[in-house]
Amino acid sequence: MLHPESATFPAETLRAALAHWFSAHGRVLPWRTNPSPYAVLVSEFMLQQTQVATVMPYFVRWLEQFPTLHRLAEASEDEVLLLWQGLGYYSRARNLHRAAKVVVERFGGELPSDPAVLSSLPGVGPYAAGAIAAFAFDRPVPTVDANIARVLARLANVKLPVDSPAGNRAIWALAASLLPEKGGGRLHTSALMELGALVCLPKKPQCLVCPVQAHCRAQEPETLPLKAPRKATVQLTECAAWILGEEGVLLERQTGRRSGGLWSLPKLRLPPTTAPLFQTVYPFTHHRITLQVHAAQPSDVLSAEQSWFAPERILDEAALPVGHRRAVSALLAARLGLPNSGSPLPAVVPEQTSALL
Ligand code: SF4
Repeated sequence: MLHPESATFPAETLRAALAHWFSAHGRVLPWRTNPSPYAVLVSEFMLQQTQVATVMPYFVRWLEQFPTLHRLAEASEDEVLLLWQGLGYYSRARNLHRAAKVVVERFGGELPSDPAVLSSLPGVGPYAAGAIAAFAFDRPVPTVDANIARVLARLANVKLPVDSPAGNRAIWALAASLLPEKGGGRLHTSALMELGALVCLPKKPQCLVCPVQAHCRAQEPETLPLKAPRKATVQLTECAAWILGEEGVLLERQTGRRSGGLWSLPKLRLPPTTAPLFQTVYPFTHHRITLQVHAAQPSDVLSAEQSWFAPERILDEAALPVGHRRAVSALLAARLGLPNSGSPLPAVVPEQTSALL
């Protein structure tokens, strides 16, 4: 439940304190210094489930290769996935690509500013729609990400799980109640989000230096926000084939939501009879995936999804999930003496183990 006095938050005083603190302590981030609608759109897709430090180099490379929304809309899916490689959650890359095409086709290349219209774009949910409207167009509209949810749940001492329908409604209502009346959405939302990132930390909130401490009603802030129980981790094993022929390394195009459009080592069709050449363990959402790579022979007829890649060019031409990229790189180094570059891009989450067996 919300604190009984939740309706009496001094919104203007809170906003002023947040803005003052943000002007002194807010980080300089590329999408803040250049809050063009396209740059904000790209940053919002990249930042979903991913930390700022991880996103930064990807964001810079992305704007170098796709400097405009039109250029992105014209790109091939292979170009898009290759540049996204290592950032994970590839459905975001495909949705960003599709969203760029929709904006070009339906809106003449101009990103709309209305959150309701933004929500109609592929991959743009309520949070991203509000964030894009606020950051790119300075609109005073509510948005709630994990940082804002934590700050607001603590400020108002919300004792409902923030990921439950009732808790979610309470947090969004609180976010709306604190907005400026006209404009100023960019500064207000940035400050609230930054407070969650730098001061109102998940484990050790820095209440002594918090600019809104005088108004905070949290009694045990580190216990908030409440969340519904997490899904248990699911262990999965993937067995893949290492097929090195005269034409190069055989890869297979993946389908489905998880990694559709990416290339990977082909799935082993039959249970392996030999020890794996390489093994690595990596997390994916609530899964923990063990990838085992076994030596295999190609079938007589390749499927339509399979293709050969020259060993020297494979890592530059094929977008691979992190575990498969690491496997290809390690095996090319072991078998052909090529440099083991691993993944030159920072992975979203580190692999647990990586070894030639
Ligand atoms: S006083 Fe502490 S718990 Fe309250 S908003 Fe500030 S950092 Fe968070």
